Amino acid sequence: MLKEFLDQFYLDKHKERDQDHFYVTDAGRCSRAVFFKFKNAPKRAMDATILRLFEHGDYVQMHILNNLFSMGIVRASEIYIPPQEMINGRADAIVTLSNELYVVDVKSMNSMIFRKLEYPKQDNINQIQLYLHFFKISKGILLYVNKDTLELKEFLIDYDSSLTKSLLDDLNVLKTKIDANVVPERTAGYPKNWQCRYCPFKEICSLAGEGEMKWEDFKTKVQSQESGQ
Ligand code: SF4
Repeated sequence: MLKEFLDQFYLDKHKERDQDHFYVTDAGRCSRAVFFKFKNAPKRAMDATILRLFEHGDYVQMHILNNLFSMGIVRASEIYIPPQEMINGRADAIVTLSNELYVVDVKSMNSMIFRKLEYPKQDNINQIQLYLHFFKISKGILLYVNKDTLELKEFLIDYDSSLTKSLLDDLNVLKTKIDANVVPERTAGYPKNWQCRYCPFKEICSLAGEGEMKWEDFKTKVQSQESGQ
């Protein structure tokens, strides 16, 4: 009854749109998974409960941002990186602390992950490095919130120009593969890499070999597999 309507509402709301540029969150990610996203490759269906959990995380993050506003230290919030050809992204906030500017990115997680968190997660570092790069700000703060208890952990991140260059170079290489319809090789550590564990393209990725292949050849392979040939 109502549950089915709600589930469908969430699935419709989060339907994938065609992607024609990178998001900041694509930086440092498995190139093959990002390629599949661009090409709308077949993937595991989303689960409405997981989508509701993501949305709950967004509300928790908003709550923290509201507190920062009340403290009067927010200079800008939900701020898009300056327009350029390749990447889109929106930082949570830019704040001033002791007369210095910081980019703040708020991440929420459940208690189990929060308790184990000793260092900032690499994909979050990659993301904030790009914000620092595009906003030309030298310091950032990754603020982690425990969704269950609202405890906080924070990590100061300094701008790292060589890491940023390597992230941008990798995205440029991936862009040429997307334009040339070449499926990139699997990420290192497949299938034990954490990205593979949560990857919605895991099933079709197992059909391709380890190395690069032509997208058209791969699509034929996927179609023949689906039709049981
Ligand atoms: S399963 Fe792993 S290697 Fe394959 S696309 Fe997903 S993340 Fe990349």
